[in-house]
Amino acid sequence: MKKKVIILECTEYEKDLIYKKIEEGIKLLESKNSPKKILIKPNMLSARIPEEGVTTHPSVLSAIIEIFRDRKIIIGDSPAGMTIPIEKYWEKCGYKELAKKYRVGLKKFEESIPLEIIIKERKIIVPITSFIKEYSILNVPKFKTHNLTTLTLGIKNLYGLIPGIKKSLLHTQFISSYDFSVFLIEFYKKIEDKIFLTVVDGIIGMEGDGPSSGKLRNIGYIIIGEKPIDVDYVCCKLVGIEPERLNFIKIYIDKYEFSEPEIIGNFKEIKNFALPPTKKFFFIKNNFLSKLISPIAKCLRVIPVIKEEKCKKCYACYDICPVKAILNNLKINRKKCILCLCCFEVCPYKAVEIKKSFIAKIFK
Ligand code: SF4
Ligand code: SF4
Repeated sequence: MKKKVIILECTEYEKDLIYKKIEEGIKLLESKNSPKKILIKPNMLSARIPEEGVTTHPSVLSAIIEIFRDRKIIIGDSPAGMTIPIEKYWEKCGYKELAKKYRVGLKKFEESIPLEIIIKERKIIVPITSFIKEYSILNVPKFKTHNLTTLTLGIKNLYGLIPGIKKSLLHTQFISSYDFSVFLIEFYKKIEDKIFLTVVDGIIGMEGDGPSSGKLRNIGYIIIGEKPIDVDYVCCKLVGIEPERLNFIKIYIDKYEFSEPEIIGNFKEIKNFALPPTKKFFFIKNNFLSKLISPIAKCLRVIPVIKEEKCKKCYACYDICPVKAILNNLKINRKKCILCLCCFEVCPYKAVEIKKSFIAKIFK
């Protein structure tokens, strides 16, 4: 049977409407998977209210919990760079209220089991939440742009299964977008069979400076599939990006067996979806032009800059920086900085901005 990805039009965060849509999507999927224990993995990047569009909306989680109410359900995540207790995250994101309403547990990933991954013939041990031993994963990402991976969707959301600060430390091993994408794919392949469903909250997504400082964009879709790679592939098409232009999708297709999934639903491309500033240049569709300018790509550096006037001195950026490039006075040591942009990602006040080099500005 051909793999399917279901796209369902949905323009508002109304729980009963979302319930109907997801229920319809699951039926159309004709999935045989029906686990008894489910770990719902939302995107809880930051302690932000749902209206900011940074985290998976609680109405989507409510609908999912109702659909699977006869199973044992927990909701889990472990944001990196936490400077406030996780309880504040649950509360702000709207998950505390729904956990109380539906009596489901909220779990921070602390205990881990080792996962062995081979990358370029090198063995790497990565910790992953120990809940993966008992629970099947229902992956619920938010549709957003991302400075390192261009889009953060089903596969990138799984990175959050790695407990806390260990996530950001991995950036020191996989610095470039390409190397990080290789890691993401090998990590994903190791746990692919544990993910039984992916539901993307694409009702209101984020474009531009994602994953936390971009602009909200009415995408108007919930996207459902079994395998995150299929879902991510279709999401790219939905916003007019050729999927293989994303490193992680290309790496997957080149190395593993992949066939295009069948798209079911009213597919209408979202026009003029703004990419992150770090990626615009790399999406020149003309191959010849793209090759011609690739030698100057190194000059297109972007660097993080902390804006003093916006900074509230919460030190989230300081805590997350994997190479300790942010000093006590919140200045960035340029020699140490590996440009992972974790600081940009976690700043709750949009005080870390991405500054482009002179040449990068020309290609704006
Ligand atoms: S730049 Fe942002 S994350 Fe860093 S201390 Fe200031 S407000 Fe906090
Ligand atoms: S200062 Fe540099 S190395 Fe540190 S988190 Fe920011 S981008 Fe990454």
